[in-house]
Amino acid sequence: MFLKPRETDLDIKSLANRKNMTLLPVKDALERILDVFKTLPAIHIPLDKSVGRILAEDINAKTDLPIFDNSSMDGFALLASDVTQAGSATLVTLEVVDDIPAGKMPTKHLRSGEAARIMTGAPLPPGADAVVPVEETDFNDRAPGTALPEKVKIYKAAKLGANIRKRGDDIREGASILPRGQRLRAQDLGMLAMLGVAQVPVIRKPRVALLSSGDELTPIGESLSAGKIYDVNSYTLRALLESAGCEIIPLGVASDTPESVRLALEKAKGADLILSSAGVSMGSFDFIKAIIEEEGNLNFWRINMRPGKPLTFGEYQNIPFIGLAGNPVSAFVGFIVFVLPVIEKMLGSTDPTQNHVRVRLAEPLQSDGRESYLRAHTYRKNGHLYAKLTGHQGSGNLFSMVQANALLIIPAGVKSLPAETEIKAWLLDS
Ligand code: AMP
Ligand code: MG
Repeated sequence: MFLKPRETDLDIKSLANRKNMTLLPVKDALERILDVFKTLPAIHIPLDKSVGRILAEDINAKTDLPIFDNSSMDGFALLASDVTQAGSATLVTLEVVDDIPAGKMPTKHLRSGEAARIMTGAPLPPGADAVVPVEETDFNDRAPGTALPEKVKIYKAAKLGANIRKRGDDIREGASILPRGQRLRAQDLGMLAMLGVAQVPVIRKPRVALLSSGDELTPIGESLSAGKIYDVNSYTLRALLESAGCEIIPLGVASDTPESVRLALEKAKGADLILSSAGVSMGSFDFIKAIIEEEGNLNFWRINMRPGKPLTFGEYQNIPFIGLAGNPVSAFVGFIVFVLPVIEKMLGSTDPTQNHVRVRLAEPLQSDGRESYLRAHTYRKNGHLYAKLTGHQGSGNLFSMVQANALLIIPAGVKSLPAETEIKAWLLDS
């Protein structure tokens, strides 16, 4: 229970505290943002374009797999009962009546005393109930074009069903194969091919319009004039968006004039989200907020987090808008914390925290009481995942992010933690 201090009691310190109380918790900000987004609709795309995409429907087998009984070896299809006596001392001779390469249907129904040469994957002839591999016969010549022998001698008995892949052995028609929400991997594509799925239902890619802003920003490739820096966020944010499965509408770099910002935002039509960085603090050249407010609505929040305290959220002409802080690390962390969950929601994920792990601190750690995202390197030691900070944690110091493979999440209110404390972390490279 907080007691409201009398105005006269306020000294500089408590003013600062009161200001802190207006900082919005990360969780609340994220909830408010996520509320605006829905899962995007499904579209059908060719299987060969579907790797990395999110499956929009459960996939069930429309057929048994294998589709037909077939041989798992190059050999001879026969009746197991014909060769029960076969052994190195007793060879059983059978008449070869058919030749069945993969992709060809058998022409004969096998009877006792008969065999058919059969290749791996070829359909088993009716009547046969076992396959003896060529290695266990006197016909081990598999050179291409080898003519069919009239007779074959079998060296070894075969169990009923030996070397036969039965229809439906792997998968029964109707079985569930891949769940909705699965990010499709190479083996999933193979499975869908096996089932003959040519057009795959996937969630449409989120379309994100990406804007950088600031007079100081110079595109790479140009030489820097005095006072300028290279535009970093366009590259990090684009890469993050692409790895998360988005399509990008590049809005370029707006300079710090209302006209330039307006012109850039006009290109955002059709986007599911406008993502900008910088130009949203209290600077005298920060026009983005005013334009969003005019063309839609805007919330400016100060988030109880470090780095990335200022965050804007709203909409521009009915398109949701997220404005990240400008410093390269702030923009990066802001993306991980607020934008990635949004993208995952648009892609149908119900668990935006799936990259969270528990790590142990290798060293004691100081924090400032805000929810902090600290750059760290994690490594395995004695069966535990340990974490060590990667150096200077300033919001412009991207090098410590380059050296990091995780962000440690220090909860709000925590000022220091001893070594060996277990805390939550966000793995960056998974
Ligand atoms: P601002 O919010 O516009 O005041 O930007 C905050 C800080 O981030 C300034 O030092 C900017 O120069 C820097 N910054 C903003 N955008 C970028 C960018 N795209 N690449 C590199 N640094 C940036
Ligand atoms: Mg700026």
